[in-house]
Amino acid sequence: MKGDMCLAWSSDEQIFKRAEYGGAVTALLKFALESRMVDAVLAVKARDGNRYDGVPVLITEPEKVIETAGSLHCVSPNIARCLKEYLNGAFDMKIAVACKPCDARAIIELVKRTQIEKENLILIGLNCTGTLPSATAKRMFHEEFGIDPSDVIREDIEEGKLTIRLKDGTEKEKDLDELEEKGYGRRENCRRCDVNIPVMADIACGKWGTNGRKATFIEVCSEKGSDFIEKAIEAGYIKVEKPDSAAIETRKRKDEEEVKRARKQQEKDFAFLRGMSTEEKFNYWLGQFSRCIKCYGCRDACPICYCKDCTLEADRGTVPPGEIPPDIMFPMIRIVHVMDSCVNCGQCQDVCPAEIPLSRLIFMLNRELGGIFKYEPGMDINTPIPLKSVTDKELTMAGVEIQF
Ligand code: SF4
Ligand code: SF4
Ligand code: SF4
Repeated sequence: MKGDMCLAWSSDEQIFKRAEYGGAVTALLKFALESRMVDAVLAVKARDGNRYDGVPVLITEPEKVIETAGSLHCVSPNIARCLKEYLNGAFDMKIAVACKPCDARAIIELVKRTQIEKENLILIGLNCTGTLPSATAKRMFHEEFGIDPSDVIREDIEEGKLTIRLKDGTEKEKDLDELEEKGYGRRENCRRCDVNIPVMADIACGKWGTNGRKATFIEVCSEKGSDFIEKAIEAGYIKVEKPDSAAIETRKRKDEEEVKRARKQQEKDFAFLRGMSTEEKFNYWLGQFSRCIKCYGCRDACPICYCKDCTLEADRGTVPPGEIPPDIMFPMIRIVHVMDSCVNCGQCQDVCPAEIPLSRLIFMLNRELGGIFKYEPGMDINTPIPLKSVTDKELTMAGVEIQF
């Protein structure tokens, strides 16, 4: 039932041997397909074996699921957008989706906007403590670790350290803060991400709490997740064991430590902006957006931007066409349209050719709004989106003021 926890591993010897943490996720995805609970699995795999280039894949043949085994820390595919844009929001197909917390949260925000059919999904959440920009990661491995990036077979981000394992079985470790001070390390949004365990998915899977065992710690987060796990156990795909209190405590402590680290980073990222006067802020952002080339990349990458007929298009008359940089209404409109649901996924900032700190701005505004409306995007499917669900009382509340 919801809230149950277990240590799980694959009963399939081939999967168990290949997987770092017992292969429970791979076994569950395979079960989802073979039991016909879903028509397809959406997951990420390395393109042509290159772990710095991951692509979302839709798998319908169970034997291919194993190709997605293992974590890829140097890629951050846009799973929610992919589901909505290319898979018709799962309206005509049942899909098991392997997803990080930001993917799952964006999916839930899109479900609330009727862009994705949640009934047709099984969300297999994967714990996450951050992803690295692939080009920077390769440079970092060369310059800071003194190794060839193609020798890296695994990365691990935990307790403020980045640990990498090499083909020859050796490991190297460096302090994450020091790396990030130098401009390496995780994507900027990941540094301030305070949702590591995807409890909004149907099940949340990770290694915290496994305490050296070759197993995956699974938390059941919904009744659908509970039914799924029970059926997988009955069918013999996974073996499970109850975690002891020490395992549960370890997982909780590790999560709390990461949340603390992320909140500290949020303070650091936002202090500079919050410390400015309104006029200074306006001028700062005007300066940033003066570099905008109106490529629409941020709009096209953002999972929350979903309108088919976008008001920012040149023929809509909202923003004067043919101007670079575009009128300030261009970024303003986009920001206002997404800031209540921004999940800090960083996709907008990743694609911006002008390197405007979009995610930092929009997520900061989201936190301001979250404080007012007590709304955490993507955390609870039943909580209405604040800017789509304004009550009369909220409209007339004293002191409600959002500033750029
Ligand atoms: S934003 Fe959070 S969940 Fe998403 S990749 Fe970064 S750390 Fe992981
Ligand atoms: S605004 Fe940026 S960070 Fe926020 S949800 Fe959209 S793409 Fe992600
Ligand atoms: S991605 Fe950057 S340059 Fe392109 S439209 Fe968005 S803000 Fe402007």
